[in-house]
Amino acid sequence: MVYPDTFRGYAHTKEGTKNVVPVLKEIEFKPKVFAEHDVDIKVVACGVCGSDVHSVCGEWGSTDYPLIPGHEIVGHVVRVGSKVTTVKVGDRVGVGAQSFSCLECPDCLADNEPYCLNSVGTYGGKYENGDKSYGGYSDYARVHEHFVFTIPDNLSFEGAAPLLCAGITTYSPLVRHGAGPGKTVGIVGIGGLGHFGLMWAKALGAEVYALSRSESKKADAIKLGADHYVATGVDGWHKTVERKFDFILCCANSADNFDLNSYLKTLKVGGHFINVGLPEDNYTVHPTSFLKNASFLGSSLLGSRKEIQDMLKLASEQKLEAWHSTIPVNEEGVYKALDGCKRGTPKYRYVLTNYEQGFTL
Ligand code: NDP
Ligand code: ZN
Repeated sequence: MVYPDTFRGYAHTKEGTKNVVPVLKEIEFKPKVFAEHDVDIKVVACGVCGSDVHSVCGEWGSTDYPLIPGHEIVGHVVRVGSKVTTVKVGDRVGVGAQSFSCLECPDCLADNEPYCLNSVGTYGGKYENGDKSYGGYSDYARVHEHFVFTIPDNLSFEGAAPLLCAGITTYSPLVRHGAGPGKTVGIVGIGGLGHFGLMWAKALGAEVYALSRSESKKADAIKLGADHYVATGVDGWHKTVERKFDFILCCANSADNFDLNSYLKTLKVGGHFINVGLPEDNYTVHPTSFLKNASFLGSSLLGSRKEIQDMLKLASEQKLEAWHSTIPVNEEGVYKALDGCKRGTPKYRYVLTNYEQGFTL
């Protein structure tokens, strides 16, 4: 028995091994109980995020298995709960990395849903009644309507999917920290998140620097919107941009040789270093690195419903989509996408497609 009682997806079924990308196996699973505000989506495409790699490689500690990743989901609405008002059957929609929050607490009411204490992530999360959440490497997704977004008609499904996580994770902090005319912004790590960081910072009117470990992404970074490019893999790189940035957005997914002290030196007095990357290992920082320019260290998680809607509007107006390549969703394709993401090969997002042929159980 498959949909609507059970869905099928590619799952990691046991504890991950550090640095080893596992082969995800197709399983049939029971989704959360269908509630009055829920929307069922027949998935058409799903982006592969750096967080999926951290999760399946066990880099964020143990979780409840089976784990089905995928939180850059797009598809068509096939069923709506009795109280759903925001979308209807047939609509083109997307879901990001958050699938539920209480919608009543002061944080939810202040457009800070990602920070709600009762937030449920799109995969690997648990609802109050014990039901688990499963991601978009599946044929269907079931999500509360507040976290379901209409995809503008002029954006392709494949190009829009990565907006739902990589896009909003960079858009939200850039807007909240005032990226715009007169501001100089540095984007660290030109991957799935970082390439959107460059697009948004440019679209918002800031002066944009791409900070990447080597020279290899220079031409792409300039096309994406960078006004300047700094290769950070050489000793003393920070001296060329000392006291340059109002704000740095760091999208690095690893802490290997990451010298936070050098990045802090590139901030203006009172400048902000906002980290969104979530490497397994710690960064080390010396107190005097903050002292000399009174700089701040902070972070940011996803973005609110309102911010996602604003971002989708901007993406539609300026026709900004992910630079991506597609891979068919099947056992081999899922492995190829996750392993490639681990190695840093996508330019700049892999998106799983061919969902009609992708499930066999
Ligand atoms: P990608 O693999 O696409 O990109 C990561 C980039 O980080 C690389 O392209 C590389 O850029 C840079 N990088 C890797 N290692 C280092 C290093 N040691 N020092 C400096 N830069 C490095 O991953 P994503 O963009 O998909 O995800 C990035 C991170 O963001 C992940 O950790 C993910 O879990 C996290 N994330 C956080 C969210 C949030 O809400 N805060 C939401 C979604 C994801 P280059 O080659 O240019 O140096
Ligand atoms: Zn993500």
